[in-house]
Amino acid sequence: MKDAAPQKIYLSDYQVPNYLVEDVHLTFRLAPESTRVLSRITFRPNPEASSKDFFLHGEDLKLISTKIDGAAVTPDLVVGGLACAVPDATFVWEAEVEISPATNTALEGLYMSNGMYCTQCEAEGFRKITYYPDRPDVMSVFTVRIESDLPVLLSNGNPVASGEGFAEWHDPWPKPAYLFALVGGELINHPDTFTTKSGKEVELNIYVRPGDEGKCAFGMEALKKSMIWDEEVYGREYDLDIFNIVAVDDFNMGAMENKGLNIFNSSCVLASAETSTDMNFERIEAIIAHEYFHNWTGNRITCRDWFQLCLKEGLTVYRDAQFTADMRSEPVKRIEDVIALRARQFREDNGPLAHPVRPDSFVEINNFYTATVYEKGAELIGMLKTLVGDAAYYKALDLYFDRHDGDAATIEDWLTVFEESTGRDLTQFKRWYEQAGTPRLAVEESYEDGTFTLTFSQSTPPTPGQDQKDPRVIPIAVGLLNPNGDEVVPTTVLEMTEATQSFRFEGLTARPTPSILRGFSAPVILERASSNAERAFLLAHDTDPFNKWEAGRALARAGLVKMILNGAAPDGAYLDAVLQVLRDDSLDPAFRALALGLPSQDDLAQTLVDQGHTPDPQAIYEALETLKMAMATHMQDVLPRIYAQYQVTEPYQPDAEQSGARSLANAALSLISRVDSGTAAQAQYDSADNMTQQLAALAALLTAGKGEQAVAAFYEQWKEDRLVIDKWFGLQISLADPANAAEVAAALTQHPDFTMKNPNRFRATLGALAMSPAGFHRADGAGYKLLADWLIQLDPLNPQTTARMCSAFETWKRYDCDRQALIAAQLDRILAQEALSRDTQEMVSRIRNA
Ligand code: ZN
Repeated sequence: MKDAAPQKIYLSDYQVPNYLVEDVHLTFRLAPESTRVLSRITFRPNPEASSKDFFLHGEDLKLISTKIDGAAVTPDLVVGGLACAVPDATFVWEAEVEISPATNTALEGLYMSNGMYCTQCEAEGFRKITYYPDRPDVMSVFTVRIESDLPVLLSNGNPVASGEGFAEWHDPWPKPAYLFALVGGELINHPDTFTTKSGKEVELNIYVRPGDEGKCAFGMEALKKSMIWDEEVYGREYDLDIFNIVAVDDFNMGAMENKGLNIFNSSCVLASAETSTDMNFERIEAIIAHEYFHNWTGNRITCRDWFQLCLKEGLTVYRDAQFTADMRSEPVKRIEDVIALRARQFREDNGPLAHPVRPDSFVEINNFYTATVYEKGAELIGMLKTLVGDAAYYKALDLYFDRHDGDAATIEDWLTVFEESTGRDLTQFKRWYEQAGTPRLAVEESYEDGTFTLTFSQSTPPTPGQDQKDPRVIPIAVGLLNPNGDEVVPTTVLEMTEATQSFRFEGLTARPTPSILRGFSAPVILERASSNAERAFLLAHDTDPFNKWEAGRALARAGLVKMILNGAAPDGAYLDAVLQVLRDDSLDPAFRALALGLPSQDDLAQTLVDQGHTPDPQAIYEALETLKMAMATHMQDVLPRIYAQYQVTEPYQPDAEQSGARSLANAALSLISRVDSGTAAQAQYDSADNMTQQLAALAALLTAGKGEQAVAAFYEQWKEDRLVIDKWFGLQISLADPANAAEVAAALTQHPDFTMKNPNRFRATLGALAMSPAGFHRADGAGYKLLADWLIQLDPLNPQTTARMCSAFETWKRYDCDRQALIAAQLDRILAQEALSRDTQEMVSRIRNA
C-alpha cells in the first residue's frame, strides 16, 4: 500500500547512517512467484551517528524469519520497512523473505522479463529484494549465491563457484545496494576479452536471448573502445576479472551500471545493420560507454545521498559526450547535444517541473532522473572545464579519483577538489547547482575608434520555489569576424560574473561581427537583436561550426515566427542561405544535414511564448510544412544531385563518415518526396538493405502520403523483431496528419502487438503521440484524453514509466485557455484515481499546481 500523504525528503535533513554494513551474504532460491531471499549481514554501530535506532528499508516483502547473532527476533514491521532492538556492538543479522518476481510489473527490484530473472535497484529498488539500509552511503562487500536450474546465473563481481543448480559471486569492491544486480535465464553469450593497460586480462560477455546473438558484435566493440578511451583520457582501468552486459526487453530506462554486471534495455545494446539505424548505432555506442564509465564515476566514487545524483550522472554524461566526440565528429556531436538539451532540458527549466541540477527536496527520487540532472549536469562540467582549462581539469580529476575512491561523495567534495587543485574560488559557480531556470543572456554592442564593446546582462526567470536568483559565472566564448568574413579575434572565453558586464576588444580596423557563445559555451538563452543579413553572414563565414549552424537555425526560426504570426511567405534569404550550405561540398555532409533541419514544433512554441505570444500548435505545424515545401521547390535542382552524390556504395558501416553521407542523402530524400510524389522514396524502400535506408524511405513515403503499402510490407517483414516493430508503431504516429494522430495512436493501442507492460512499446505508441505537438494538442482534447486514459491504466502496473510520461503535459501553461482547461480536466482525472502511485501523484500535482 502507498502511504496516504507522500512525504517530502530534504537535503538539509541528511543524517549519517546509524549502522554500517561490514559484509553481506545473499542466497536467492529463484522461483517465479515465490523466490526466497536469505540475507546474512554484519552490522556495526556507526560511531558518528547520534542515534542507535535500527531501521531497515523493505517494501512488498513477505517476512519469513529473522535472527540476530543466531537467535530468533521479532522486529516491528512499520511503513516502508522494519525496526528492531539490536545489540550495541557488531552483530549478524539474518533474514529470510519471499518475493514474487513474476508478478512484479513495476520493473523495480527482482522481476521477470520473457522468462528471465533480472533486477533494477537504482534508486531505491533493493528494498523490494530484502530488508536493508537502502541508501547509497551504506557501502559493503557482497557475496551472492543463486540457486536455480537456469543455465546462466550472474551477479556482481567475480565468479567464485558454480555447479549443478547454483552459482556464487563475490564483489570485492564495497558498494551501495543500488548497484546490486542478479540475472538468471536461458541466455546466449557473446564473449570477448580485453587486456588492460597494466596487463590484466578481463573476460567480457554480452548475454542476450536466443535469436539476438547476431546483434552483439557492435556493442562489444563499443565496450572495448570505451575501456581503452577511459584508460587513455582519464587514466582509469577496469578493476574486476569479468565485465558482463545483459540485454533485457522490459526495462524502464536505458541501462544500468551495476558493478561488473550492466543491465541494458535491449534497445540500447542490440544492433545490426538490418534492424538498427545509424542513430541507433551512435546511441548504443554512447550508452555502452556511459554505463562503463560509471565504473569510476558512480561506482568507485558514488553519491552520499540521492540529492547528489548529478555528481555521477552529470559527470558521466559529460564523459560519454567526450567519448562520442572523439569516436565521431566533435561539432556534429555538440550540435546534436544542444538540440536535445533545448528540447528536453530548456523545456523542463521553463515549466512547472523546473528544479536545480542538485535538487533540495523530492517526494519520489525516481522522478529526478531528469534532463536537468543529466544533461544540464553535464553542461556544468563542460563549463567548469572551460573556466579552468583542459590541463587543470584533468589534474583536478586525478585528485578527485585519488581522494574520493571508495567514498560516497557530495557536490561540495567535487567542487573542493577543483578549488584546491586550481586555487579558484567556486562559490559563485556553485549557484549553477543550486538555482533552477535557464539564464537569459542579453547582449548589446557598440563600436568606436577601433574598440568594440560587448555588454552582457543576465537574468533568470522565477522557477517553482525560487523567485530570486543571483548572477552566475558564465563562460562566454566569443570570436570576431571582419566585414570580409575573416576572423580577426579567435575564440576567447569571457568570464562573466556580474549581472551586467562589459568586455572590450581594442585595436580593430572596422566594426566586426561578433560570434557569441561559440560551441554553446554555457546553457543559456542568448537574446541578441540581429538582422537576417548578419545571420546569413555568420552562416557563411563563422569558423566555429556550432555557431555557423546556430546562425542558420536563428535565420530559420525568425522566418518561421513571421510565417506563424503574420502568415508571411517563406523567407527567401533563408532559402538562399541554406541552399548555399547544401551546395558547399567542402562542408561535412553530417553538418549539412543538420543545417537542413528546422527548429522543432516544440522549440517554436517556446520561442513564441518567449516573445509574448500564445502558440497555436496547428499553425506551427503548417508553417513548418509550408517551409519544407518551399525548400523542396527552391532547391529542386540541387537536391537530386545531392541525393545521388551521397549514396553509399561500400558495404554498410555505422561509422561517422557513412552515417553523415546517409543523413544528408536522406534529408534530401525527405524534401524530394514532397515534390516527386514518393517515387524516389519508393525506389529506396524497395532496394534498401539496411534499416537507416529502409526507415528513411518509409518516413518519406508517409510524408508523401504514399506510405500505406510500405507500412504493411514493413510489418510483415519485421513482425518477429520487437525493436523494429517499436519503430513501426512510433513512425506511423509521429508522421500522421495531426488531424487524426490521436485516432492513429488509439488504433495502434488495439493492435495485437501493443502491450502496455513493455515500456518500449508503450513509449513508441503513447510517447510518439505526446511528442507530436500538433496531434497531441488537437483543439478538441482527443490527444490529452487518450494519453490520460493510458496513464491511468499503466500507473497501477508501472508507476515509474507512467510518471515519466506525465511530462507530456508540462508545457500546458503555454497554451490558450481552452486547451489549458482540457488539460486541467485530464490532470484532475488522473489525480482523482484511487491508490495513485507516489511517482505519478508527485509529477501530476507539480504540473497541475503551475
Ligand atoms: Zn548514468
